[in-house]
Amino acid sequence: MLVVARIEGNTRVLEVTDSKSLFESLTKCMQKQDDEAYLRQYNATLQQALLAEIRSRKVRTSLKLVQKKDSHLGSANAKKLVISGAKKPFPDTLQIRIAYKWTTSGAKLSKMTQELAYRAIRRLQLSARRHIASCSPDRISPSSTLVQDRVLEVFNIDITEGKIWRSIRSKHISGMASQFLWKVMHDIYMIGHRWLQESMLEEYHDRAICVVCGNVESIDHILFRCEAVGQAEVWGELRKVWENMGVPWKDPDWGTALGTGCVVIKTDKGIRRRPIKALWTILWSETVHLIWKLHCERVIRKNGEEFTFQEVKNAWHATIERRLTLDRRTAVLAKGKTDLKQGDVECIWAPIVENYRDLPKGWVGNSRVLVDIKSGQG
Ligand SMILES: [Zn+2]
Repeated sequence: MLVVARIEGNTRVLEVTDSKSLFESLTKCMQKQDDEAYLRQYNATLQQALLAEIRSRKVRTSLKLVQKKDSHLGSANAKKLVISGAKKPFPDTLQIRIAYKWTTSGAKLSKMTQELAYRAIRRLQLSARRHIASCSPDRISPSSTLVQDRVLEVFNIDITEGKIWRSIRSKHISGMASQFLWKVMHDIYMIGHRWLQESMLEEYHDRAICVVCGNVESIDHILFRCEAVGQAEVWGELRKVWENMGVPWKDPDWGTALGTGCVVIKTDKGIRRRPIKALWTILWSETVHLIWKLHCERVIRKNGEEFTFQEVKNAWHATIERRLTLDRRTAVLAKGKTDLKQGDVECIWAPIVENYRDLPKGWVGNSRVLVDIKSGQG
């Protein structure tokens, strides 16, 4: 309708719509909405622009309301446009401009109510949040491209997108962690800017912002930047254990953590260190998944109350020890060629097992042998 209304001012125009609310907002409700500065209208800017175009025309603009059931040709075409628009990965940018002469300066004081004033405040808050979201460096589009870029930068390996998706199914990544990585890369978690979508009720908009840091709660924020007790402490525990092995540490990001199945670790002579690579994939996938679980627990079950440092530290050690126990049990049942055997598990986990050299032979398959993970201090 906006495009039609922009037709040369001397041409008579007949606008046809099957939307009763739009029709009424341009006719009998127009004055009331104008007086209330469109505070009740969801698509206020669009409506104001349309009205401004119609008002600026020099000749008559007619409106006709048609019934949906009449199968008007225009309705059918509009529906096709809606469907094709909904399939677009990114919305089109609409050029909305309202000539100053036709702008509404604000609501009339005589028409203002407490409810309208509250709506005005909420609209300002939402606008501010959207601005933060659009400017925030944390609003990184989660995709395999980010993983590709970071793996190339950190490990100097040029990987294909296919390799990333295959790496998620690595035998060193548990089923739950694999599902988590898959969902992150498909950007399907209901977090951050998704709570600010037009279709979302206003009462949910606060969920877009981290209550601890005040930043938009993107996956990047949750996993690598949030100041709540959690991510930094968990990565810190991994770092202590990792550096204790004498293998260079890399800061956690999309490549090192979410591309954990793609990393390649070599000796100074360029020989691939496969057991260390496997350990990296195990530890980093379990750690990044734990951070996500801790975040969910804090926000949903604990209603925002923070964990203590000790709780987070214990959670990390419990997670890694549980994973080692699982690998040991699975190795005992190994039958297939690609299954990890007891020797493989020993080779992978040895660098971080406490007092490894004192363990009895065959400890991997012997469930009576209790094994601890090094704490990282020595
Ligand atoms: Zn935060």
